[in-house]
Amino acid sequence: MDCLFCKIISGEIPSSKVYEDDMVYAFKDINPMAPVHILIVPKQHLSSMNDISAENSAVVAHIFEVAAKLAKEFGIDESGYRVVSNCGADAGQTVFHLHFHLLGGTKLKVEMC
Ligand code: AMP
Ligand code: ZN
Repeated sequence: MDCLFCKIISGEIPSSKVYEDDMVYAFKDINPMAPVHILIVPKQHLSSMNDISAENSAVVAHIFEVAAKLAKEFGIDESGYRVVSNCGADAGQTVFHLHFHLLGGTKLKVEMC
C-alpha cells in the first residue's frame, strides 16, 4: 500500500522515533507546530477515525496510554498538552493513516473551529 506512515513504520522512510511497541509507533512531526509535537500511529493501517470499530478500538486506548507516558517523558505532563486527530478534509487531514498529534511545551492556542 502506498501509505507514508506505513512506510515510516516499516523503516522504508526514516523518522525520529520516540517510542515503539507491537501495536503503535510514535515519532516526531517533521513540521512541528509546538516545541513537543509527536505523532502516535497504530501499526495497523486504518485510514482515519472513520475506520475505528469495536474490532480495532483497543489500539486507541493504548495510544492514549502511550501519549500520557510520552507527555511525562518529554516533561509536559504538568505544564499541559493536547492530543488531536484530524479526520477528513474539513479537519485538514493530510495523511490518510490514522494518527494522533501530541502537542505541548508552550501555551497552546484554544481554537476549536
Ligand atoms: P494531518 O494534517 O493531521 O494529517 O497531519 C499529518 C502530519 O504529518 C503533519 O503534521 C505533517 O507535518 C506530518 N508529516 C508529514 N510527513 C511526515 C514525515 N515524513 N515525518 C514526520 N511527520 C510527517
Ligand atoms: Zn498506512
